[in-house]
Amino acid sequence: MKRIIVILGTSKTDSMNRVILLTGGNIADRRSILDKARHAIDTQIGSIIKASPIIESKAWGFDSDQAFLNQVLLIETIDIAIEVLNKIQLIELELGRTRKSTQWMSRMIDIDILFFNDDIIQTERLTIPHMHIKDRRFTLYGLSLILPRLKHPVYHKTIKELLNTCEDQSEVEVYFA
Ligand code: ATP
Ligand code: CA
Ligand code: CA
Repeated sequence: MKRIIVILGTSKTDSMNRVILLTGGNIADRRSILDKARHAIDTQIGSIIKASPIIESKAWGFDSDQAFLNQVLLIETIDIAIEVLNKIQLIELELGRTRKSTQWMSRMIDIDILFFNDDIIQTERLTIPHMHIKDRRFTLYGLSLILPRLKHPVYHKTIKELLNTCEDQSEVEVYFA
């Protein structure tokens, strides 16, 4: 299989990496699971510098009666991107995530890496920035609450600008601030 690896950016292993994660889930006690995810990220990956309010929105890309709660977290870590991915996948397992299919579906916990410094990474296991940031109002809205002026390294637009031109008009609201 052809393997494409492109890593552009300023990451160094000897300095702190600023990483933006998105946590979310729509099953069981959604708020308590997000709280547990935040705690696990803080202790196992890196200090949480900023956390957005928890926001609620309908499932994106598939039908479900159960709405999602999501939260955006800015963290600092010495880990490189693939180590962060390994750790978030372990935390997902610890918190009860099961992977039954490759389709979008209801889940207890999902943790995505939205940004990793200003890096652009394309490997078999990682696409950074996350490929759906500009398509998902709930993601842009959560980001806009803590980092409205952050510039997307591929589109060269701020979060605020991407939110203003976002085609996804789904309802998103603050659930817990
Ligand atoms: P989506 O990525 O569209 O939000 P999802 O979160 O439901 O979908 P998962 O089943 O959680 O998708 O993850 C599938 C794979 O995506 C993971 O095994 C991981 O290797 C890969 N992946 C690629 N880029 C990222 C990223 N930026 N953050 C997290 N996982 C990523
Ligand atoms: Ca996701
Ligand atoms: Ca994911």
